[in-house]
Amino acid sequence: LHRALSGDVAFLLHRIFMRSISVLGSNEQIAKWIPLASQYKLIGSYAQTELGHGTYIQGLETTAVFDITTQEFILNTPKISAMKWWPGDMGRSATHAVVFAQLYVHSKCYGVHPFIVQIRSLQNHSLCPGVTAGDIGPKMNFEHIDNGYLMLQNVRIPRENMLNKFCMVQPDGTYVRQGSQKINYFTMTTVRIALLSDRAVIPLMKACTIAIRYSVVRRQSKLKPGKILDYQTQQEKLLPQLAAAYAFHCLNNFLQELFDKAYREIQRKNFDMLPELHAFSSGFKAMVTQYCTSAVEICLRACGGHGYSSLSALPYLYTEIIASCLYEGENTILLLQTARFLIKCFSIASTGQPVPPSVTYLAAVKHGNCPAKNKLDFLRPDIYTEAYQHVATR
Ligand SMILES: Cc1cc2nc3c(=O)[nH]c(=O)nc-3n(C[C@H](O)[C@H](O)[C@H](O)COP(=O)(O)OP(=O)(O)OC[C@H]3O[C@@H](n4cnc5c(N)ncnc54)[C@H](O)[C@@H]3O)c2cc1C
Repeated sequence: LHRALSGDVAFLLHRIFMRSISVLGSNEQIAKWIPLASQYKLIGSYAQTELGHGTYIQGLETTAVFDITTQEFILNTPKISAMKWWPGDMGRSATHAVVFAQLYVHSKCYGVHPFIVQIRSLQNHSLCPGVTAGDIGPKMNFEHIDNGYLMLQNVRIPRENMLNKFCMVQPDGTYVRQGSQKINYFTMTTVRIALLSDRAVIPLMKACTIAIRYSVVRRQSKLKPGKILDYQTQQEKLLPQLAAAYAFHCLNNFLQELFDKAYREIQRKNFDMLPELHAFSSGFKAMVTQYCTSAVEICLRACGGHGYSSLSALPYLYTEIIASCLYEGENTILLLQTARFLIKCFSIASTGQPVPPSVTYLAAVKHGNCPAKNKLDFLRPDIYTEAYQHVATR
């Protein structure tokens, strides 16, 4: 019931499981797994984070060792810190998971790769041999989602269960890869873009609607008649948040178009747009989720004590949205990654070489004074664009 009321009717991680297979799986893997998942004949989860490592993905300790004699991978979480920790729907629901593990072939490590692992029986839902899993316990929100832990001990899966659109282990143990190894984290890029709307912008829209409607009916003393939305201070609190919700809605559409274009190229095995897409999805995810979290808090406080009541739904929206600053890449790290991309592009632009289309402003900056001559000039968007270009290159 809680899931239905909060809009989380379908298993959230099931969709991320399907998305991982769609973007990282071969045509054969998509044909095998996606129909089963879309008909809910299995329930999927996404198991990347471990107790010991979340941000530092290269440090993941789960292993997948290729056994050439049986053509299987043997998966292990060799120590406590390697235990998968946080995967949504893992605690009670999932029957399968995309598990990220260090790939070993002939004792050589090839880095982190995604594998489809069955964790519960499709007959009686009991845990499969070698699998230990359960719920990680109480959280700030998402009580209706069974975030879980997962330990694996010599769990064998067929060679075909390594998601192999871009990386593959051939029957003789030869490892083949197309593009950068970072392509294995591409699910995160796609999820980052998808979550902006559902997990940040829509909660902000809901919070604005609740707070503004409240401000239209709430009245104060006779000395200050009228609705509280007439007060300048209330407008200064709420209207920027409403404007931001509209702006982020448009930004989200732009990001989706950029993603569709880049993904078409990636499917043709052209990875040129990947760094730009990664920088965009990281930077905007961090900026939008951070802003939306602060904005929802402003909406909550703008409703006074009634905002703090769970009946207003604002505390729920706040504790939901704050998590979006953490999952799919903690915001500090994402900002640092975007900064690294910008600095790199700036150095390239300084030498006169071409840079990705979104950052050509780094090469086109004009030095000199602000072109605004009177106050009306400050209503011209091009003045702001030029000023931001100037600031960015300073
Ligand atoms: C509600 C929720 C749902 C989740 N669902 C899933 C799921 O379904 N599947 C899954 O796999 N995971 C899931 N996660 C886990 C989530 O992806 C991780 O928590 C997240 O990636 C951060 O990793 P961490 O917790 O290990 O934090 P850490 O990496 O330990 O970060 C701790 C602090 O150190 C800072 N830090 C770390 N590295 C650096 C650096 N290089 N430079 C500067 N500062 C640094 C960070 O900014 C942060 O402030 C979920 C988390 C939450 C909260």
